[in-house]
This record gives sequence, structure tokens and C-alpha cells, in this order.
Amino acid sequence: MKVLIYNEGFHDSEPAVKAIYPNGIHGRIAEMFTEDGHEVVIATVETVEEVFTEELVKSADLICWWGHVKHHLVPDAVAERVQNAVLGGCGFIALHSAHLSKPFKRLMGTACTLRWRDDDRERIWVTAPSHPIAQGIPESFELESEEMYGEYFDIPTPDEIVFMGWFAGGELFRSGCTFTRGLGKIFYFQPGHETFPSLNNEYVTRIIKNAGAWACKKAPADTPICIHASESPESLRK
Ligand code: ZN
Repeated sequence: MKVLIYNEGFHDSEPAVKAIYPNGIHGRIAEMFTEDGHEVVIATVETVEEVFTEELVKSADLICWWGHVKHHLVPDAVAERVQNAVLGGCGFIALHSAHLSKPFKRLMGTACTLRWRDDDRERIWVTAPSHPIAQGIPESFELESEEMYGEYFDIPTPDEIVFMGWFAGGELFRSGCTFTRGLGKIFYFQPGHETFPSLNNEYVTRIIKNAGAWACKKAPADTPICIHASESPESLRK
């Protein structure tokens, strides 16, 4: 599959982040897909406009998004391209603070805000053990440090809640949620703060790989055309 990876790339030169992700957050995510033989294209906030062209985004099977403080610098045209690609069947994985990214907010249609607190110990519980994204994951696993994201998480009711996060401070969070928009499958996953090694965790890695396989484009290139519509399905999705 063709995987587009966006990481805004703002934190990656900070020593604390570099120590954990020497090739950047995008480098770590890219590894997860290249080691399984998938084609990967990477963009940062500096390059996203020129790299994520209409043609490239249209041809993607999966888009994986990590952003934090530079969401506003992603051009609306790029966010619209990504949204349209997902409606046309491309998979979308929003990681950690991508809950406030332009593409994710467009796809959800809600504010996507949440409760926040600094780092704490997190236990992630599987709440949909038969879901393809949960395969190979034990009933729960622990992350020694993660950023606390808590409820209320302002998202539409997910299709499925595959994982729930519990924090030592007592908070709960819908940490792994699936959605369907148009022909596209979406997975939001909460771990992945830049100063913690969550993306190196074997179960987090497995979950992202599983999510890629589950979400990637499976729809035929030609989507059904409604005979009553005067416009093409593509323009109707805009
Ligand atoms: Zn964070």
C-alpha cells in the first residue's frame, strides 16, 4: 500500500525528542510501514503543501497524521484533499494530538476537544477484542508515561471503541476509536506524545500496523454513481 505520513516536524529537533526518535516522529512511523514492504511518502508542515499534491493524495491507500502546535499552518486546500481522499476510500489514522488537526476535525465535524493533564501512567484496555485492530494485543498493557487525555472527548459517537485508556489519576479516555466517513475508515489513537517512547512500544506499534491494514483503501477505484445526481461523486463529496 501507499502510505502518506504527515508529522509537523516542529518538536523533532528538541533534544528530549531526538533522544527518543532520532529519525523524527515521522521516521519512527515510516519504519512501521517500510519494514512490512509498504511505500511511504513523508511530509512536514514545511513541505506538506508541495508534497501532498492533489494527485498524490488521491493515489494514497492510507494517510497517517501526527500534528501538535502547527495545525493552523496546514493549508485548508491540503486538509480538503485529505478529507476528499478519505471520503473516496483512503484510510486515515490520527495519532495523539492530531485530534485537533484540520483533516480530523473536518472528518468528525465536532470540536474534538478533550480534558488534558501532564504526564501520568496509563493502562490501555482492549474493549473490542475481536476487532482486527486489537489482534495480538493483550487484554491490557501499560505505558509508564503518557500525556493524560481525558473525557469528555468531543467526537461523534465512534463506530467502535477498540481501546479505553485509564490513567493513574483516575481519568478515563476513549483511546482507540473507529469511524466511517464515505468509503473511508478512520482510526484515532491517543498514545504518542513526543517526549515519551510510546511509539516504540511493541503493542502501540502493533496497533498502528493493524490499523493500517484495517483502514487502507479497499474500495474500487470507480465508486458507484447515483443516476439521480447531476454531478460526479467526486464533486458531490466536496
Ligand atoms: Zn502530546
